[in-house]
Amino acid sequence: MNNKIESINCTDQLYKGFHISKIINSLSNENWKLILLPTERCNFKCMYCYENHALGQMTENTVNAVKKLIARRLETKELKYFNIAWFGGEPLLSKEIISNINGYVKKIADQRVLFSSNITTNGYLLDQKTFENLLALQINYYQISLDGDRDFHDKVRCKINGNGTFDKIWENLLNIKKCDAEFSIILRLHVHSENIFSMQKLVCKIKDAFSDDNRFKVFIRPISKLGGTNDDQVKSPSDVISIIHKFYAMLDNKVSLWDTGSTIQGQYICYAAQPNSLVIRPNGSLAKCTVALDTNINNIGKLNDDGTLSIINDKFQSWVEGFKEINNLLKCPYYNRKHSFEPKCGKCNFSNYDLTGRG
Ligand code: SF4
Ligand code: SF4
Repeated sequence: MNNKIESINCTDQLYKGFHISKIINSLSNENWKLILLPTERCNFKCMYCYENHALGQMTENTVNAVKKLIARRLETKELKYFNIAWFGGEPLLSKEIISNINGYVKKIADQRVLFSSNITTNGYLLDQKTFENLLALQINYYQISLDGDRDFHDKVRCKINGNGTFDKIWENLLNIKKCDAEFSIILRLHVHSENIFSMQKLVCKIKDAFSDDNRFKVFIRPISKLGGTNDDQVKSPSDVISIIHKFYAMLDNKVSLWDTGSTIQGQYICYAAQPNSLVIRPNGSLAKCTVALDTNINNIGKLNDDGTLSIINDKFQSWVEGFKEINNLLKCPYYNRKHSFEPKCGKCNFSNYDLTGRG
């Protein structure tokens, strides 16, 4: 993420395990992050998906209201870093909305505000032309999930019609590699209890294909139960931490790893806990967390047609209250409150599965 909120220095001092600079950045009016869902529909039907895909494409009213909201906020003197994170569903099903909003921001953002943008995509529609268009819209950071080599990936991350997706995603990645531009692609690998062998093959494949290109980075996580209808089939191995360490070791420092510095040195602060971060859904509903999309506590208000926000204050405060005492609610305000255990979020961009074994 090319955003001050994310760009912490891992040698920074810690307070109660959290980077002091990240705490300050999360509370500062200099930073603002919007997580936009241009559609909640998806072209995939992943076995473990927790979303119901009921909301389709962002309405025209919402798109216009988002632009008005941004225009007003960019006028504030304090703002220095503005980030748009595109999420879904599959956001590339609504490329024109991404183009509309990012194109608008590029036009109106002056030199005073550093604008950055990133996307979480399943990678299927990310052909070279689309990728180049997104780069031109200042989307430089990409997260794409793979669940093993073709044999396993295609069983759990298939298209709606049941067809496999691995070959197309892999082809897209190899084509993207031919671009000269600066970008980061985070390959997020999900470890299941049944894909260890397939994941070994994939890790070798990634090492062969991308070891000479540090724009491609690897991030390995256990698969998690997130409330989808197939949660009872979602299983990660009991010794998943040591398995993940072995996969990282197989990469032999030849492929860049994503953000291990902050994972090891300091605790992650989820965007849902940050007062200066907001999720906008296709119908203009406001949320904080991208996992608990349909829970009442996460329905924190509405974006009005004129670009103003109607926020339900007590709900909003319940997401950010980890800052009162600087505690575990900062890592995952949803699961830490709901279940009183460590975050097990599997889809959100940055949730931290503690690879050091620390709590
Ligand atoms: S996990 Fe992502 S790619 Fe898969 S069905 Fe859900 S939204 Fe689509
Ligand atoms: S870490 Fe927790 S609060 Fe943050 S997005 Fe994931 S589930 Fe939601």
